[in-house]
Amino acid sequence: MTVSNAVLYERTKKLSVTDGLTGISNRPNMEQVLRSEFERSMRYGAPLSVVLLDVDHFKGVNDTYGHQAGDECLRKIACVLDRESERPADLAARYGGEEFAVILPYTSAKGAFHKAESFRRSIEMLLIPHTRSSTGDYVTVSFGVSTLIPGDDTSTDALIANADEALYKAKESGRNKVVALPFAPALL
Ligand code: GH3
Ligand code: MG
Ligand code: MG
Repeated sequence: MTVSNAVLYERTKKLSVTDGLTGISNRPNMEQVLRSEFERSMRYGAPLSVVLLDVDHFKGVNDTYGHQAGDECLRKIACVLDRESERPADLAARYGGEEFAVILPYTSAKGAFHKAESFRRSIEMLLIPHTRSSTGDYVTVSFGVSTLIPGDDTSTDALIANADEALYKAKESGRNKVVALPFAPALL
């Protein structure tokens, strides 16, 4: 009885941090992890990076291939992000509908840019058909990267807002690309 309660507790705990569709971290868990990594990086004066990504013309995937194909596409992208978030402290999460976030602690802007570029290529290499995309015949993703060294004048909200602005710039300038907006040029 005690064992099964323990198993049940672990299962429930896992469910509460997991996104139902993709099986990776959900947004509330990601936000909690980001807050604790922010504190940790502040203690060590280390850079903290966040990558936000959004599938390009995803509505077209649903419209052309159906909602189930859209869901499968999201699962495949989540799988790439999870597999390639290699360091123990890295965390890939589903942020919203067709948006994901990756937390990269102890990672400079340059390092995070390279990581995002590697995610971008891997997703492109999945060769998920998308004949109605402006970026080619396959599903692509746009990325925004933000980096700061946590301090009293910075916040997790500012870090996310900056990554969102970078993502917007990536969309605006043609999609299927990575744009980095570090808080200070020195972080590059
Ligand atoms: P953009 O390149 O500007 O990002 O264009 P977009 O079509 O990706 O953006 P838009 O915000 O117009 O469409 C997002 C779509 O994502 C609409 C919504 O139906 C779909 N979506 C959100 N969550 C899910 C989901 O869980 N499964 C599926 N299949 N589709 C989803
Ligand atoms: Mg979106
Ligand atoms: Mg989109």
